[in-house]
Amino acid sequence: MIELTGVHKSFGAVEVLRGIDLTARAGTVTVILGPSGSGKSTLLRCINHLEKVDRGTVRVDGELIGYRQAGDRLHELSERQILRQRAGIGFVFQNFNLFPHLTALQNVAEAQISALGRYKGVANEKAHELLGLVGLGDRAGAYPRQLSGGQQQRVAIARALALDPKLILFDEPTSALDPELVGEVLDVLHELARAGATMIVVTHEIGFAREAADTVVFMDSGRIVEQGPPHEVLDNPRHERTRAFLSKVL
Ligand code: ATP
Ligand code: MG
Repeated sequence: MIELTGVHKSFGAVEVLRGIDLTARAGTVTVILGPSGSGKSTLLRCINHLEKVDRGTVRVDGELIGYRQAGDRLHELSERQILRQRAGIGFVFQNFNLFPHLTALQNVAEAQISALGRYKGVANEKAHELLGLVGLGDRAGAYPRQLSGGQQQRVAIARALALDPKLILFDEPTSALDPELVGEVLDVLHELARAGATMIVVTHEIGFAREAADTVVFMDSGRIVEQGPPHEVLDNPRHERTRAFLSKVL
């Protein structure tokens, strides 16, 4: 279970998150929609402490992220402890962010060895299994530049899965792809959802939201304007801002 309470974040004078409360049960898919600049990426980055929140708390399976509570004070965790927490939260970026000098297999194996201390043989075996899961069993030896965008993104998803995350965050995983490659990545996301992964997905793919989301969240100007099941938020939005946004993306 993911629990965000009163999350605030500013960059200089600009308040980018203005009090976000969000709960997601284990095994559910939450899709976050919202216009450019509404704070979606910042919110994801706050969840795994890539950004420090100014106020509020993030909990994953009951564990406070980034901090330790002592009485009513919060103390920031050490870098090492933060890295350990982050290893339990997968992050898939718009631009894949694979290591260019490593093969697909090495990209999926690397963090298992460095972050989890797995033996190389174990990590490679798991990497092979996950590349198979994302349909790339035959491309294990390819370097990122030898793969299409859709294939690179599927490697990035396998890499996120390799650390057995409690939660996977996706930041516009298909928006850098040519249209004909979007489907193969969304198919993998659907597959993960069916397998019971806990996912928070920022995307403009309304079809995916409709079919895969348990909860759709619409953000604007650093606030959650409305949230609910897809048929409510997408088909019967209560807020004018949600309606205006949907009329542009649908
Ligand atoms: P998009 O749909 O374009 O990806 P978004 O909803 O993900 O937008 P964010 O990237 O979270 O929006 O950015 C929200 C606001 O915060 C923007 O005004 C952005 O310029 C600002 N911002 C984000 N990161 C930083 C930073 N590191 N320093 C300063 N301002 C930032
Ligand atoms: Mg963004």
